[in-house]
Amino acid sequence: MDHGQRLRTLRGQLPASRIDFLLVTHLPNIRYLSGFTGSSAALLVGPSSAMLFTDGRYITQAKEEVRDARIVIGTTAPAVAAAEWLAARKKKSGWQTTLGIESESLSSGARDRLASLLRGKARLHSAPPLVERARMVKDAEEIRLIREAIAVGASLFHVARKRIKPGAREVEVAAAMEYEARIKGAEGMSFSTIIAAGPRSAVVHGRASAARIPRSGFVVCDFGVILSGYCSDRTRTVHVGQPSREARSLYAAVLEAQQTAIASVRPGVTGAEVDEAARSVLRKVKLAKYFTHSTGHGLGLEIHEAPRLAAGQQQELEPGMVVTVEPGAYVPGKWGVRIEDVVVLTSAGCEVLAPADKELVVI
Ligand code: ZN
Ligand code: ZN
Repeated sequence: MDHGQRLRTLRGQLPASRIDFLLVTHLPNIRYLSGFTGSSAALLVGPSSAMLFTDGRYITQAKEEVRDARIVIGTTAPAVAAAEWLAARKKKSGWQTTLGIESESLSSGARDRLASLLRGKARLHSAPPLVERARMVKDAEEIRLIREAIAVGASLFHVARKRIKPGAREVEVAAAMEYEARIKGAEGMSFSTIIAAGPRSAVVHGRASAARIPRSGFVVCDFGVILSGYCSDRTRTVHVGQPSREARSLYAAVLEAQQTAIASVRPGVTGAEVDEAARSVLRKVKLAKYFTHSTGHGLGLEIHEAPRLAAGQQQELEPGMVVTVEPGAYVPGKWGVRIEDVVVLTSAGCEVLAPADKELVVI
């Protein structure tokens, strides 16, 4: 990872946002810009240098991980230490520094504290999401890491297929998958594994529960790992027992929606257009009202990041963006189906990562 280049790019964008210093407090942004993976830090990016403020627990780790920013070990909260440094700095007379802050990741209490520390010395300004925007387009190294995370993530489905059977508890299936993930090198799961069986398959975020898998019905499995900091995300829906004709046609409709949406992903298309591609397939078979979430989201250092594939999203897709495509249909109290893959935008279209056969698996 060329953190120096990322910092230079960001620095070049500060004048246009009328910012002299940017105080980066969102940890994934700090990791992206400096390589630091600790849980307590603030990164102050100025016109000619960057400083990473952290605390005593991270001396060794910061030295190992951070090459392109000066490391400052403080005894106060990192953002406060950064503000104190800024307040103490000699400045040209009559010059009021503008400090850009990431409002989304700073509590109002912290913001007040910074404002009072910097009174008369710097004014605070909510910065546009400069780092989030940079993170939308992944470089070759990031795509390699995401590819690896998705390969490990995808392999967990084999565990699910073996473990899913009538009478097994959803958590037992999830636990077996998570164990396999850790053995294969995952640092953790990118979210709580979803195993939602029978009528629970209609619950969009059906985290694995103590419920037992019924004799017949769909089981939605949505799972992802974190490997080298990067997230994977994948959903497969299987059917326990022989599916009815209606169940098969529901599955076929969601699969067609997903494949149509994937076929629509290419540079220049907006998030709204991809969402509509999926939704229009379900509309034709009167299932659109059961598709109650957006079609997809970016992923990388975070499981949900920009861009979003949803109605109203005018962000055009670009080569190097990585997004999920995950339409679903959920009939409350009855059943639900979701199918999700991650794709990377290429110059001509997109590539599905760890592609696999998606015909309905019957257990
Ligand atoms: Zn998912
Ligand atoms: Zn997802």
